[in-house]
Amino acid sequence: MMTHEDERWPGRSWYEATAAKPWAGSGELVGEHCHDVVIIGAGLAGISTALSLLERGAKSIAVLESSVPGAGASGRNGGFVFAGYSLANDALVKQLGVAQASRLHGWTRDAVGLVRKRIERYGIACQANDAGVVLADWFGDDERLEQFARRMQQTLGFDLIMLPRQDLRQFVNSPRYGAGLHEPGSFHFNPLAHIQGLASYLCESGVAVHEHSPVHRIERSAQAWIVHGAEGRVRASEVVLTTGGYDLKLRPEVQRALQPIATYIAVTEPLGDLISEVLPQPVAVYDTRFAFDYFRPLPDSRLLWGGRISVADRHPASIRRLLARDLERVFPTLAGVDFEQAWGGWMSYARHEMPLLGRCPDGLWYGLAFGGHGMATTTLAGEMLAEALLGRPERIECFRRWQPVWAGGLAGRAAVQSRYWWLQALDHWRDRRAR
Ligand SMILES: Cc1cc2nc3c(=O)[nH]c(=O)nc-3n(C[C@H](O)[C@H](O)[C@H](O)COP(=O)(O)OP(=O)(O)OC[C@H]3O[C@@H](n4cnc5c(N)ncnc54)[C@H](O)[C@@H]3O)c2cc1C
Repeated sequence: MMTHEDERWPGRSWYEATAAKPWAGSGELVGEHCHDVVIIGAGLAGISTALSLLERGAKSIAVLESSVPGAGASGRNGGFVFAGYSLANDALVKQLGVAQASRLHGWTRDAVGLVRKRIERYGIACQANDAGVVLADWFGDDERLEQFARRMQQTLGFDLIMLPRQDLRQFVNSPRYGAGLHEPGSFHFNPLAHIQGLASYLCESGVAVHEHSPVHRIERSAQAWIVHGAEGRVRASEVVLTTGGYDLKLRPEVQRALQPIATYIAVTEPLGDLISEVLPQPVAVYDTRFAFDYFRPLPDSRLLWGGRISVADRHPASIRRLLARDLERVFPTLAGVDFEQAWGGWMSYARHEMPLLGRCPDGLWYGLAFGGHGMATTTLAGEMLAEALLGRPERIECFRRWQPVWAGGLAGRAAVQSRYWWLQALDHWRDRRAR
């Protein structure tokens, strides 16, 4: 039997440990193939692009994945499906103005609806929970939170329900928080079951989803692209790169704009009645700090707890230690509960914190850098990439202003880590001032 000490980064997720069956798709890529579109990377960006193409009548599609669908961030995340981008809503408004920002934000709200619709349409069993997402205020500044909700309504048309302190306790019973905001359109789910359900549907519909088929090289000839794996090759008219934070070498001119950032999750042992004491409603919760905690109940009375960001990987034992401290700060009654699984994953960020969506001068399409807001935005990216591939680039053109700017390599990583420490220190200082 494996013990906690045998674990290595990134750690086995609870989703993997409880998966109904091991993934089996189209097998490894072997020999010569020919498709209209090849998608590299079976995270939710790649799988959504394939699905959006299929739903629009495209048939000849292949997805090539180094491991299995969802092995990257898309199958090991917190499972929050909510609106918005990694770039803060206020910054989006500042950059684009009210009309365009509310249009782009509205697309992410539609994408939350599309994730839900596809779960129903394709009958995907992924423990979807419609209780919604709650933003809990760490700093006890009710007035500021209320102003934020009002501003989101006025600028983006984004409805958030104010939960005064006593009402928040009926959702999240922690002495740590002040008031909260409920985002009722959002939901939470098991992201691995979700992506593997979508990928299975693709396979049943004739899309080739090749697992354990890392792409080593992409070559452009006069007539077509040739995508090279270890044992096979695919010739295609169009290629889409959706490798998240898990590859920085295949197309350096785009991927050099990526900063892989780690975040961590742990899952408790079953808590029995304690779970409804701390979470009287089964909502997913995050807080108002820069480096926030995020947590949600799982179907068998466990609590999934996530948090922390860093440019470094961490051993699961150290993730357990760090997250146990964070958990106890919010729910003192849960002090000492065991984390049965702990793991991490890489998000990918661009310096401007917006997704990288577009096309290289030689015609290679890309959809990357969804940061910590990936479930709705990758679904949206799939729609926009499919539209563009089929001759309607209007929506993806709106993302042209966020170009793949070099993230600074190793020096950029050090700068990101320093900025995080600085912002965490600011959180700490604000917290001390508020108390
Ligand atoms: C721990 C954690 C918690 C998070 N929580 C949330 C959350 O609650 N809600 C939310 O909205 N977002 C969350 N996120 C962010 C979200 O998961 C990501 O933004 C999103 O999944 C990115 O999807 P992707 O398809 O771009 O990348 P990924 O899911 O990382 O997929 C990239 C895929 O490409 C494959 N690949 C890489 N290189 C190659 C190659 N050369 N050949 C073939 N395949 C290759 C990889 O194996 C991988 O499967 C979280 C992320 C992490 C890590």
